[in-house]
Amino acid sequence: MTKVFLKRKIALRIANGHPWIYGNEVERIEGLVAPGDTVDVYYFDNKYCGRGYINPQSQILVRLLTRKQETIDEHFFFRRIQQAWQYRQKLGYTNNCRLIFGEADYMPALVIDKFNDYFVLQTLSLGMDQWKPAIVAALELLFSPKGIYERNDVPVRELEGLPQQKGFLTAPFDTKIVIEENGLKFYVDIENGQKTGYFLDQQDNRRAIQHIVKGAEVLGAFTYTGTFEIHAAHYGAKSVLGLDISEQAVAQANSNAALNGLDHICKFEAMNAFDVLKKWGREGKQYDVVMLDPPAFTKSRETIQKAITGYKEINLRGMQLVKNGGFLVTSSCTNLVQPDLFLQTIEMAAKDARKKIRQVTFQAQASDHPIIWGMDNTNYLKFLIVEVSDK
Ligand code: SAH
Repeated sequence: MTKVFLKRKIALRIANGHPWIYGNEVERIEGLVAPGDTVDVYYFDNKYCGRGYINPQSQILVRLLTRKQETIDEHFFFRRIQQAWQYRQKLGYTNNCRLIFGEADYMPALVIDKFNDYFVLQTLSLGMDQWKPAIVAALELLFSPKGIYERNDVPVRELEGLPQQKGFLTAPFDTKIVIEENGLKFYVDIENGQKTGYFLDQQDNRRAIQHIVKGAEVLGAFTYTGTFEIHAAHYGAKSVLGLDISEQAVAQANSNAALNGLDHICKFEAMNAFDVLKKWGREGKQYDVVMLDPPAFTKSRETIQKAITGYKEINLRGMQLVKNGGFLVTSSCTNLVQPDLFLQTIEMAAKDARKKIRQVTFQAQASDHPIIWGMDNTNYLKFLIVEVSDK
């Protein structure tokens, strides 16, 4: 097997368990390098580091799959997926969950979402992409799925020299399915929905609004298919208005409200939330609860300041729309904006909006997306509820 030797002076990250090895951390390579091949990695002093797959076209030259000298074959992938499923079952997941959350499941660049008997997968690196048949075979063996679909239509694949593509990995099936969450039903469009079709990462957080929305007038912005808003209606809100810029998301959100018999309470409209929040704030509109869940504002460190400005702006607008003593429910999925920085940003927004805030709840993504300490990109979702009062 080809051997990759690391430089003497490299970040502690690798020794601490992080699976990524950048090209500039490698001293020399002994043996042939075929893109996607399994290689052994050694520290500068010849101590064994681990085994992973290599892609010379990527800045992340090697992603480690294991720290042991174990064979990387279809059995390896079967075992890893089986372990990930056992872990989710221990945490109480039964029907829907993120089955594999990449690095946090020691399966770098692999994402698998389970929606009952349907599976959606993303292989985001060349090395992982090559194991797609083994991964599909493992899912077949473990779950006898009704269908598996690939949502590899993501730009990040191009950094690995991979094409963007989507399609069936089993016999074709109807890609508009219905899932249940917290006793509610939601359509999931596996083929054309955003990301894998549904944001499983907020599933526990949706339950967290249960008490604050009773009898409330609720405004939701960046609603996608309306999951938070439909939960609000279900938990007893008086009226709910949801806004999203995507016509397709709004149509599906309205269908979801109808599917749950909540369309008399919960309405969705296609609008640009940035414009509307600003305008309605100026007009003095007021809601008991305002919920914000915008898309990631940046993926690169260079534009992090812009992202913070964006978060401050929309949260300031959101707070202005909250009645005295009402609640702001706000999320951020930008992994570069770590939890402390997010809280500081909300504090600045409150100051500028001349509001007093009290923290009700602050949590991360659902536990089927495990967080590995030292891998900041696994700790990506911030979910905050604050009570907002006049100063
Ligand atoms: N809360 C949702 C996930 C929201 S994802 C859930 O739990 O399922 C972010 C959403 O913001 C996407 O649906 C996207 O279409 C929407 N969006 C992006 N820019 C927007 C804008 N300027 N105004 C309103 N919605 C926007």
